[in-house]
Amino acid sequence: MSNSKQYDIVIVGAGLAGATLASGLAPTRLNIALLDRNPAPPAPSGDYDLRVSSLNRGSENILKQIDAWPLIDASRAWRYDKVQVCQQDSSSRLTFDSTEIGEPYMGHMIENSNVVHALMRRVTAVNNIDFIDGINITDLSVNDQSTELETDQGIFEAKLIVGADGPRSLIRKLAGFEETQGFYGQKCIVGTVNFDGNHRQTAWQRFLSTGPLGILPLAPGYCSLAWSCESDFADERLQESEQDFINSLEQALDGHLGNIKAMPKRAAYPLTHMHPQNYVSHRIALIGDAAHTIHPLAGLGANLGITDAGALAQILSEQNQQKSFDPGQHQVLRRYERWRKPQNQIYLSTMSGLNMLFSKNLHSISSLRSIGLSIADKFTPAKNLLMQRAMGLNADQPDLT
Ligand SMILES: Cc1cc2nc3c(=O)[nH]c(=O)nc-3n(C[C@H](O)[C@H](O)[C@H](O)COP(=O)(O)OP(=O)(O)OC[C@H]3O[C@@H](n4cnc5c(N)ncnc54)[C@H](O)[C@@H]3O)c2cc1C
Repeated sequence: MSNSKQYDIVIVGAGLAGATLASGLAPTRLNIALLDRNPAPPAPSGDYDLRVSSLNRGSENILKQIDAWPLIDASRAWRYDKVQVCQQDSSSRLTFDSTEIGEPYMGHMIENSNVVHALMRRVTAVNNIDFIDGINITDLSVNDQSTELETDQGIFEAKLIVGADGPRSLIRKLAGFEETQGFYGQKCIVGTVNFDGNHRQTAWQRFLSTGPLGILPLAPGYCSLAWSCESDFADERLQESEQDFINSLEQALDGHLGNIKAMPKRAAYPLTHMHPQNYVSHRIALIGDAAHTIHPLAGLGANLGITDAGALAQILSEQNQQKSFDPGQHQVLRRYERWRKPQNQIYLSTMSGLNMLFSKNLHSISSLRSIGLSIADKFTPAKNLLMQRAMGLNADQPDLT
């Protein structure tokens, strides 16, 4: 008799995408293992985490459908109603205001750990999902009937393995997915800014010659910073004392936030883009950053990952109604790939294009960009359509209900 642990589905990675998928599959009675090399994050407390994401209305809807939204610590989630886009040395503005499409708000800024903690409370409350942390994966083999995942905690046999293990996905590598990838030559400096003024529930994106700088409302007197800039420039900023960094930031913001009081912690993440040729193969599927890594300038990566997870959960739940359902069948998984890959491709290309266009420091382009922002601001139908998509309110969102 085999001494492997047997499951219908093994999900590798309990980040935003993997934990959303597990939660979405909780009501199915499929037998699931959720594996991570790290423990689940504790309940958020004290200072804000450095990893914060803007979760749009589409992600909120999915998290509500899987009963995880009410478990998020709402005192640490902040609503934003507007996004304002501008560029250095220009007074042109492009403003997205949720009330223009009859919506009360655009989304929330929430620490990733706050969301994952809520999802894991949901996952660990059901008995068809085993969460196993501290795991080290060593190999993967796929045959016609099942897959085998070799780990330092034994062999896991499953009909389907889902790689939700982030941008440097080991599952993607072991399964041999071909990918297109590259480095933007930029890093993103993140941190929590404590300042004197009022953020007015508005997220602010300023395109500088060094790259886009985002200021996102986190709490009264607090904003989350996402400053994408050339790597050398980012490294220099990280070496600065807190006061010197605040001076550099105030200069980059051109006084937008008023007086910055403190920013004790900061970190920088190298920015890469990656898209594999396929999201699925026989008995393997990729979701979240394992399936696509996107520039953070529009704050979409987490939202795309949660939507992947919702879409895959919906397909597997629907198919699970059928007799002798096999979740690893290629034709089942292809439905997920056909649904999600073209949508994600559009966002990936758009973000790379915008980053390139706005990072070029040429006077002629700068004037054109400025005119472009003014025109886009006045062209209401296109603006509203763009806003609906950025808020995840398009019709092809997953519906797990
Ligand atoms: C600076 C920055 C700012 C961002 N801001 C936003 C934003 O405002 N809005 C937004 O939507 N997105 C944002 N993003 C993107 C967002 O953070 C990611 O898209 C999202 O966190 C990806 O979630 P994930 O679950 O796919 O991957 P991850 O969060 O990377 O989770 C992967 C999980 O897999 C585990 N794991 C990895 N390898 C293994 C292994 N070999 N074995 C076992 N477990 C493994 C990890 O421990 C982790 O728990 C930002 C990204 C960056 C870099």
